[in-house]
Amino acid sequence: MRIGIIGGGIGGVALTGCLLQRGFEVRLFERAQGFGEVGAGIQMTPNAVKVMKALGLLDKMLEAGFLPHALVGRNWRTARENFRTPLIDVCPVLYDAPFIHIHRADLHAILASLVSDAVPSFNVNCVGVRHEKNTAVAMFADGTEYEADVIVGADGVRSIVRSELFGAEDPRFTGHMCYRAVVPVGGVVDFVSPDTSFWLGPNGHIVTYYVRGGQAVNIVAVAETRTWVEESWNVASSKSEMLAQFQNWHRNIQTLFDRVEDVYKWGLFDRDPMTSWSKGRVTLLGDAAHPMLPFLSQGAAMAIEDAYVLAAALDGHGRDVASAFRDYEAERLPRTSRVQLEARERGRTYHLPSAFAQAKRDFTYWVRGLFNPQTSGIRANWVYEYDARKFRPNVADKSSRLVA
Ligand SMILES: Cc1cc2nc3c(=O)[nH]c(=O)nc-3n(C[C@H](O)[C@H](O)[C@H](O)COP(=O)(O)OP(=O)(O)OC[C@H]3O[C@@H](n4cnc5c(N)ncnc54)[C@H](O)[C@@H]3O)c2cc1C
Repeated sequence: MRIGIIGGGIGGVALTGCLLQRGFEVRLFERAQGFGEVGAGIQMTPNAVKVMKALGLLDKMLEAGFLPHALVGRNWRTARENFRTPLIDVCPVLYDAPFIHIHRADLHAILASLVSDAVPSFNVNCVGVRHEKNTAVAMFADGTEYEADVIVGADGVRSIVRSELFGAEDPRFTGHMCYRAVVPVGGVVDFVSPDTSFWLGPNGHIVTYYVRGGQAVNIVAVAETRTWVEESWNVASSKSEMLAQFQNWHRNIQTLFDRVEDVYKWGLFDRDPMTSWSKGRVTLLGDAAHPMLPFLSQGAAMAIEDAYVLAAALDGHGRDVASAFRDYEAERLPRTSRVQLEARERGRTYHLPSAFAQAKRDFTYWVRGLFNPQTSGIRANWVYEYDARKFRPNVADKSSRLVA
């Protein structure tokens, strides 16, 4: 089986690693000049770390990352705790994997350590896919082509492969934009607690957490805006713009923002869940299939889970690509659709504009936390419980049909 993967982001590289470990022949096509992830942090929640563990990459993650003590909700002005979900001691017991903060470039490099130099091709821009009798063909802007048994579009939110399969449609601007920065701090400081902190304010929220063993703090500061005029969704911004946007927020936020050097702003786009991702010998994975708001911190995590399950499905079904895609979608579509929709809903509850609505929400957080802190606050225990390692392709079904 020859498999061609379009896009070398976190999803594409994760899939390449999973397939190589199972002995497939794989080629990866990336339009950039080399692998390069944006300079920002990423939360790897236990569901994604389970896959990293299965790939033998947990030790590298622990070396490069930071283990947050808890997931903490804070009032934007007073820093009062609205909820506290313990993580560091609890996740390995409850979910069989830790919760890790890591720099995106480190995560990408760890996944890429599974991929030998001969597998990726750079500077190749996929412009389309087509089917031949028993193969699929990826076409590139320089006129070259790659023919394979399976082509996977892991080419992000503006996926060419997706529009080739299902028609072109722009992703939806969600009315949110965010500032992203990484601030070197040289170790844990008194104005940033060693947690994943969600500062919830009116019409916006800020997430702060340590990466690189506590040497730096990652900031994601989300604001609502009616318009997003930039063509790109990764635009240079400035410390002064960021401070002005969040000027009345708690002094710890001001102190942290004051240390920012490089800052980028992103418009946040998503799409509605799909009913299918595959046609013939071509399928989708990661943001190409299910772009989502980052409010449950799951975009990359879902891509990593997809990768593990798709590789297992292809491995289990041999040359029967249709059955592999059927099992892949049956396993992944309901889950990623729920995460897409719940992430959208979090945008509303994190940003309640009135003090009364905020007080009601915070009271609910408090009551839930009394019963089970894992179901308070962002309420993502159902996300973390999932275990892609337990997926088994439905090959029994096929043999029973053959017998019948
Ligand atoms: C502010 C913010 C915070 C986030 N925080 C988290 C978090 O904490 N945890 C988490 O799990 N997720 C998080 N995410 C989501 C996560 O970043 C994405 O969901 C994830 O990176 C998607 O990976 P991907 O590989 O599917 O797509 P991408 O990362 O977009 O990769 C696509 C790749 O395909 C290449 N490509 C595109 N078109 C072509 C073409 N035509 N030919 C060849 N190559 C092509 C691109 O160059 C790129 O390398 C966050 C997102 C944002 C915006």
